[in-house]
Amino acid sequence: MREFDYIILGGGCAGLSLAYELDINDKIKNKKLAIVEIRDEYKRDKTWSFWKVCNHNFEDCIIKSWNNFSINSKLGSYEVLNKDYPYQTIDSELFYNKILNKITQNKNIEFFKNTNQLNLDNSIIFNSITPKEKFKNKLWQHFKGIEIETSKNFFDDNIMNLMDFDCDQRDSVHFFYTLPFAKNKALIETTWFSKMDDKSLTDYDAQLEKYIKETLKINNYKINYQEEGAIPLFYPINRTEKNEINIGSAGGMTRLSTGYTFLNIQDQSKYIVNNIEKIQNIKPYHIGKKYEFLDNIFLNVLKRHPDKMPKIFLNMFKARSKTVIKFLSNKSNIFEDLGIILKMPKWIFIKNIF
Ligand SMILES: Cc1cc2nc3c(=O)[nH]c(=O)nc-3n(C[C@H](O)[C@H](O)[C@H](O)COP(=O)(O)OP(=O)(O)OC[C@H]3O[C@@H](n4cnc5c(N)ncnc54)[C@H](O)[C@@H]3O)c2cc1C
Repeated sequence: MREFDYIILGGGCAGLSLAYELDINDKIKNKKLAIVEIRDEYKRDKTWSFWKVCNHNFEDCIIKSWNNFSINSKLGSYEVLNKDYPYQTIDSELFYNKILNKITQNKNIEFFKNTNQLNLDNSIIFNSITPKEKFKNKLWQHFKGIEIETSKNFFDDNIMNLMDFDCDQRDSVHFFYTLPFAKNKALIETTWFSKMDDKSLTDYDAQLEKYIKETLKINNYKINYQEEGAIPLFYPINRTEKNEINIGSAGGMTRLSTGYTFLNIQDQSKYIVNNIEKIQNIKPYHIGKKYEFLDNIFLNVLKRHPDKMPKIFLNMFKARSKTVIKFLSNKSNIFEDLGIILKMPKWIFIKNIF
């Protein structure tokens, strides 16, 4: 059996972010790190977007960034001008290549397909693998996105559309999301918040085709790339072994009300590396109890009153743009939290505390 100081289970976003952060901070100079990853090859499989509320290591993997965004619903449209925190999009293939090019030069870092040859007892284990079992009655953000390219220019690439609720809701919460990378190229996603027990919501291709033809009025396009996924809007793992620290989605890095995870993973990696010598004796990194509390109320409202959500989102974005973005990126202070809470329909939220 092989012995390593650190073992990272899962070389995806969180596993590789942590390995990179350890490597660039010289924490693997005199230590050994094993990364256990099942996939055979790394290629573009995700498009990670977020408001840049703090610095991160992957500016050179950004494919596009916007200062402005819009929200649409049957009640009208709203444009948010935002100079402080650009909305950035990362191509996962650029991210994987950047990290792999760096860490594969370090002879103390090795990749494995499984844990068969590893002694797991004496290492510190960072686990990003979520259990496979289906979680019944839990809420997910599930979606499919396609990157389309047109021969003529159709998009205004200065503004991205964060949410378009002016579509079929089917007693659930549904919106389209459009990231225009160029005047003739955009990623368009159909996104649902649901318990995933209604299979009829997953006719994603038909939804996308209808939206592109009828709403965006684009008839001719080619599809360059597609991605599909489901982000758990609950914490999938509670159990932790003595020598195991959960990271990434498995480690509670997903903001439950929005699904945003990428920047939280970067903050968690920095926290672990800054404290690596004492990591087993300090509190695990947490995105904040207050957000957990507020997001649970928000999700209760979402489950019980899906029809009210377009208006709730629209109103939320009518607060100062800086405040909303900080709140959604878990960087807000108490006054900013209050600014957002005051925009919510108070009785509905109070009744949904439990
Ligand atoms: C399509 C998609 C788009 C997303 N877009 C955004 C976004 O725009 N913004 C945002 O903030 N968040 C987004 N997210 C949410 C989140 O950022 C990602 O899910 C992110 O990849 C989570 O990182 P992770 O390391 O926890 O999980 P993953 O990146 O999924 O990494 C887990 C790794 O474990 C490996 N693995 C699984 N089982 C085993 C096993 N048995 N043995 C060995 N290896 C195994 C997998 O192959 C994978 O590489 C998106 C999620 C998806 C699915």
